[in-house]
Amino acid sequence: MIVSLIEKLRQRHTLNVDEYKALLLSQDAEALKYLQEQAQEVTIEVFGNQVFIRGLIEITNRCRNNCYYCGIRKGNQAVVRYELTQEEILACCRKGYALGFRTFVLQGGETPDVKDDRIVGIVSAIRREFPDCAITLSLGEKSRETYERLFQAGANRYLLRHETHNEEHYRRLHPSGMSLRKRLQCLEWLKEIGYQTGTGIMVGSPGQSIDHLMEDILFIEQFHPEMIGIGPFIPHHDTPFATCSPGSVEMTLKLLSIFRLMHPKVLLPSTTALSTLLPDGRERGILAGANVVMPNLSPREQRENYTLYDNKASLGAEAAEGLQLLEEKLAAIGYRISKERGDYGSG
Ligand code: SAM
Repeated sequence: MIVSLIEKLRQRHTLNVDEYKALLLSQDAEALKYLQEQAQEVTIEVFGNQVFIRGLIEITNRCRNNCYYCGIRKGNQAVVRYELTQEEILACCRKGYALGFRTFVLQGGETPDVKDDRIVGIVSAIRREFPDCAITLSLGEKSRETYERLFQAGANRYLLRHETHNEEHYRRLHPSGMSLRKRLQCLEWLKEIGYQTGTGIMVGSPGQSIDHLMEDILFIEQFHPEMIGIGPFIPHHDTPFATCSPGSVEMTLKLLSIFRLMHPKVLLPSTTALSTLLPDGRERGILAGANVVMPNLSPREQRENYTLYDNKASLGAEAAEGLQLLEEKLAAIGYRISKERGDYGSG
């Protein structure tokens, strides 16, 4: 029964609600192995055995928001705040370029609108110096006008996880003043403007049910993002969710495979959160259908200040300078690093 659903998903790229639910609830080890194999086969059909790399630059841990799950939330007084200068960011890009990175991901907390000009200037400077590279932004909710200015300045992609598509669950994760509707509106704008757009969720965030995951799957199916970022929730000791349990690695892998079968060409990262929970989490993500990794290119001395959750991995194969090690780990499972830009549709 489950096997036939997996085959149907591979062929038709969609299932009905009850079928998705049966797949999410299945504990049948053989069937789940089959799901991963099918997802892996599809990934290899589209991309070969290559994995795209993105250099992640965590440009600031200042944030105006107070998401209950996040270690850099505004209310966390224990964080030493930093903001990289334009020159520091360009230095990260130069280091990354020399290592072979052709995509830079600028991620950070959500800064006030008055800082938007500065970010536009940074994107323009990267675009001037690295005309052959893709620039991905992950800087949260901005006005449509700002998204347009950033796009004009040379940004190509934007990552904005919706976090949950269920209103009640959204309220459980965020304080009043933040709104799911606003987040979804931002995603629509990003797509309309022409960004390759990414959305996604934390798997196992507090209060998440199978029905919530179903809503997320249906939203993602309809929104058809070019990138899907999913990783397990991991608690941070200085947040209201300090004592919550981490999300399930198995469910994360299952969702990676489902998204690959739903959307064969999607750019699907094997996330740092997965590597943080399991020493071979990154490789398991790739074997479940992921095709992107995002090693950390931030200045070494600031990495410990960008702690979204406890024990966040940023060294070894998770670090840009550990590319050789990453190469070896991927080779051990039959994959190689691609140093192409790796835009959506280029597989
Ligand atoms: N401020 C931007 C935004 O809101 O999209 C980008 C930075 S935000 C820290 C990046 C992502 O980190 C979030 O979308 C969230 O899914 C993830 N994240 C935050 N706290 C986490 C936690 N405790 N466990 C796992 N992922 C977490």
